[in-house]
Amino acid sequence: AKSQGRNTYQFFSQDLTTGTLERLVMESALRGAVARKELVLHYQPQIDFADGSLAGAEALVRWQHPELGLVPPDRFIPLAEEMGIIGEIGEWVLNEACRQMVAWAAEGFEVPLVAVNLSARQIDRDQIVEITAGALQRNGLAAERLELEVTESMIMREPERALDVLDGLRALGVALAIDDFGTGYSSLAYLRRLPLNRLKVDQSFVSDIGHDTNGEAIIRAVIALARSLGLSAVAEGVETQAQAAFLRAEGCDIGQGYLYDKPMPAASLRASWGRGRKA
Ligand code: C2E
Ligand code: CA
Ligand code: CA
Ligand code: CA
Repeated sequence: AKSQGRNTYQFFSQDLTTGTLERLVMESALRGAVARKELVLHYQPQIDFADGSLAGAEALVRWQHPELGLVPPDRFIPLAEEMGIIGEIGEWVLNEACRQMVAWAAEGFEVPLVAVNLSARQIDRDQIVEITAGALQRNGLAAERLELEVTESMIMREPERALDVLDGLRALGVALAIDDFGTGYSSLAYLRRLPLNRLKVDQSFVSDIGHDTNGEAIIRAVIALARSLGLSAVAEGVETQAQAAFLRAEGCDIGQGYLYDKPMPAASLRASWGRGRKA
């Protein structure tokens, strides 16, 4: 495993659900990660299709471990959920994203919106409303500059409960988005009742553009659904000009993907987008 060099985390990642030694090592390392300040947020720009301007940035967490290197979220978020420490990590992420928005503004870099991913365990409890209010207040960030992303499956586990929590969040003034839209089960009846601002078209459909007419039809349907519910449509995983052209032509509002930029440290986002760059 040593020979894999920079990707040494792969040694630990083969199967985190089995009771292996690797898992124990990973667990004990992860337990202190927040306190040791090993978590970092990278930010990926979201581009307004209307004028190519920066519409916002999605905050994506990484674990910077001294030996494992930069561990991607898919390798430790599920483990943190199982360990019952996702609340602590999620609270750190929320606070850090709010802090960064205010720090950027102080440097003269105004990012309109920061989007933060929530995990299922976080919306199981009303506590998330207080935690979010606390992060906004502590940092002095206006609620409408924060967006929280949840998935359909998170909502459909206990829809009435999720509805309560999302209503509580919406009452704070934060924006709400459904992430990976189209990949989970969601009931249109609930969708209509949810206090949403955005639907994020899953990247699997975006990658179908130009290859699979069914995928293209789904994108058109999601954009039409967003429109009729008064929501904006965001496409993720935009990698090519052809995909961007299709999405723009179909009336998608915002695009996010490697075509514009990969997720990057806060200072890099400011360096690339701080002087009003347009995509
Ligand atoms: P997601 O929320 O669906 O985030 C999008 C993922 O797609 C990110 O992976 C991003 O780097 C990647 N991506 C962006 N543009 C492109 C593109 O053009 N092509 C391709 N192939 N991929 C692209 P990342 O950063 O590894 O995050 C993976 C997942 O981890 C996220 O999926 C999200 O579910 C979760 N995650 C990330 N940060 C957090 C967090 O702070 N809290 C929680 N609960 N989950 C998080
Ligand atoms: Ca997301
Ligand atoms: Ca997504
Ligand atoms: Ca995803």
